[in-house]
Amino acid sequence: MQRYDYLIVGAGMVAANAVAGIREHDRDGSIGILGEEPNGPVTRPALSKKLWTDPEFTYDKIWMAPEADDDNTTLHLDARVTQIDRDAKTVTLETGDRVGYGKLLLATGGAPVRLDIPESERVRYFRTVADYDYLRELAGHGLHIVVVGGSYIGTELAAALIQNDCRVTLVYPEAVLAGSMLPPSLADRFHQTYLDHGVNLLGGRKVKSGSESHGKVTLELDDGNQLVADAVAFGLGVAPCIELAENAGLEIDGGIVVDERLTTADAAIFAAGDVATYPDRILGRWHAEHVDNANQMGSTVGHIMAGSDETYDHTPYFYSTVFDIAWKAVGTLDSHLDIIEDADADGDSGVYYYLEAGRVKGVLLLNLDADKLDDARAVLADTSTQDETTLIGRISRD
Ligand SMILES: Cc1cc2nc3c(=O)[nH]c(=O)nc-3n(C[C@H](O)[C@H](O)[C@H](O)COP(=O)(O)OP(=O)(O)OC[C@H]3O[C@@H](n4cnc5c(N)ncnc54)[C@H](O)[C@@H]3O)c2cc1C
Repeated sequence: MQRYDYLIVGAGMVAANAVAGIREHDRDGSIGILGEEPNGPVTRPALSKKLWTDPEFTYDKIWMAPEADDDNTTLHLDARVTQIDRDAKTVTLETGDRVGYGKLLLATGGAPVRLDIPESERVRYFRTVADYDYLRELAGHGLHIVVVGGSYIGTELAAALIQNDCRVTLVYPEAVLAGSMLPPSLADRFHQTYLDHGVNLLGGRKVKSGSESHGKVTLELDDGNQLVADAVAFGLGVAPCIELAENAGLEIDGGIVVDERLTTADAAIFAAGDVATYPDRILGRWHAEHVDNANQMGSTVGHIMAGSDETYDHTPYFYSTVFDIAWKAVGTLDSHLDIIEDADADGDSGVYYYLEAGRVKGVLLLNLDADKLDDARAVLADTSTQDETTLIGRISRD
């Protein structure tokens, strides 16, 4: 039976960062990565943005390759783990093979939420390189592609496809695109930008069911209408892949529960990234499904597994970029909260504060540089009551 000093389940963004983190403290320990996908870690944000919109960002740039130039790191692909035996310190693969570990990192990420419509070349629940490859093959011929979901993946894919010679219909439940998340003035601008680029927006609707036949996909909407398209891409959110941990008796609370050292109740088992829920220094018990968290937490968990006494003290940000709108945020973006806007007159850049009972819960930076993120974290860490007089001008827009 193969055994590794450090075994990582899930060959994603956390895994790649964790290998680098381990190597900063342990040059020689053996590292094994077990990933169910047919390829190793990739930088996922590029799949819905740069690969479509930045001609200089070519396909070869997505691969993270943590095993490259490291004889003691082994990447096993098409290797789905089905069980953990905590007493024996082994995991079992779908094939029945077992692999032993000294320390185990659960970095299984999240799986896309699905409807009862089977996946195919023309029906994708978008997350992987394969999803990108299928859509890329179809794009560029004026075909009609329906994108379902008005959050990050849906809005980014709709923007990507309309800029790559597709006819795009975007179906989403809100009246105004991104209206449940963005401040009303910004949501209006966001919505109008999609219309200006020719995206057919079908708000206030959900897809109920669908079927595929003769190269066409037919979707039934909850308003009784039908949509016929050449392909459909779903972005309905993700559910953290917690089954392995749950079946092994580890605590789950919206993700695998870890402490500030990213450790579960089993001292040999760690979790990080989209699958984890952790105590954030500023935000409290937190679950992030974003790349800054995957990078930073992945690196920190690698340090900790290799013996560092540090804790995870980073409060992650998240971001999205579509057309000329680029925003970054920390904390909670919920447009039902009270919102204070500190934006320039034409609304091209600004700072938006989300408050609950006078406490700042989230900060959104529109078209501002990343060096303002620490200022946003400082505002969130301030527990005093805030209003316009204390917030306007607090974060510089220069
Ligand atoms: C298209 C796209 C665009 C994104 N854009 C942004 C963005 O603009 N900004 C932002 O902040 N975030 C973005 N994200 C989110 C970001 O990519 C994720 O937060 C990050 O990838 C999480 O890393 P992870 O390692 O936790 O999960 P992943 O990178 O998903 O890796 C988890 C891996 O584990 C594998 N796995 C699961 N179960 C098993 C098992 N039992 N056995 C073996 N392997 C298993 C999965 O197949 C997967 O390969 C985007 C995500 C996607 C999909």
